Amino acid sequence: MTILSDRKPTRPIHVGQVQIGGMAPIAVQSMTNTPTADVEATTGQILRLERAGCEIVRVAVPDMAAAAAIRSIRKGIGIPLIADIHFDHRLAIAAARAGADGLRLNPGNIGGMDKVAAVVSCAKDHGLPIRIGVNSGSLEKDILKKYGGATAEGMVESALRHVEMLHSCDFHEIKISLKASDVGRTVAAYRLLSQKTDFPLHVGVTEAGGIFPGIVKSALGIGMLLAEGIGDTIRVSLTRDPVEEVRVGYEILKALGIRRRGPEIISCPTCGRCRINLFEVAEEVEKALMYVVAPVKIAIMGCVVNGPGEAREADIGIAGGDGVGILFKKGEVVRKVPHEKLVEVLLAEVERFTASQPTADPSSTCMP
Ligand code: SF4
Repeated sequence: MTILSDRKPTRPIHVGQVQIGGMAPIAVQSMTNTPTADVEATTGQILRLERAGCEIVRVAVPDMAAAAAIRSIRKGIGIPLIADIHFDHRLAIAAARAGADGLRLNPGNIGGMDKVAAVVSCAKDHGLPIRIGVNSGSLEKDILKKYGGATAEGMVESALRHVEMLHSCDFHEIKISLKASDVGRTVAAYRLLSQKTDFPLHVGVTEAGGIFPGIVKSALGIGMLLAEGIGDTIRVSLTRDPVEEVRVGYEILKALGIRRRGPEIISCPTCGRCRINLFEVAEEVEKALMYVVAPVKIAIMGCVVNGPGEAREADIGIAGGDGVGILFKKGEVVRKVPHEKLVEVLLAEVERFTASQPTADPSSTCMP
């Protein structure tokens, strides 16, 4: 059963080889937190992000050293790179020339139409899209005054102003994000914007916080919007290693049944019937399968009384039994395994299963 509304059609744009909008799979993004000018650290972090499934990466470009570093970083990575610019149009031009695949900047904040025109001309020359990223914390003063604060309506008006500036330069390769740190305003702003425009939308809740509040806010905000058919690319924002952002992003997509990538682990909460150290087993399995790409549903259940039945939809599962563990497939018990071999046997079965799958390409396992 799906709880998803039809996806809202948006016009397609391209960030490098990745299509955003136009019914392309919803792309998962993240942002590095290394100093961009440190080529080795930034390239290393992006390669880890790629391995986790990140499809587009953004790097901060606070100065010319960072802009120049893009040239070397770009050579060492496989996914498109977006340069994040604030205020200084020269950085945008330098980043584009250094090989960035897209720019994130707000044309209203770079000091006048002549500078906007210069950036647009450079973006056109290099075939780059621009993301307008409105943040509730940095709305224009007149908008704050008009709406009595950073409201959803004010954020949308700000975004459309920036769009208008790009349109006046005959530039249309645009995507938009509207981020507030609370779920209510974020959702309200995207809903409103999606009624007013068909540009692809980059969805996220900004400054969502540490791991627990961050995941909850992102899952709610991004999840509500995706369920309503709004959003073409997502970024989970966490005060953590950005690899965690990518993992959470896929979990949101998987939970909604929008994309399937890697293992979906179903584990029981345990109760008085639990016969194994389930917390440890689940954690071990999750870690071991972190970089598996092919979709597989795995159940890790505490007891054999209810385990296999409760996890009937799992491709493979284990359940704790008396002195042994039970391996099951699609709810049917296959064989008994000594406790100490449970994880090893399960991982071997998962490997066998994923190797037999027709594809390990995440983009071919996407639903619109
Ligand atoms: Fe309890 Fe068994 Fe259900 Fe786990 S699978 S919650 S141990 S009854």
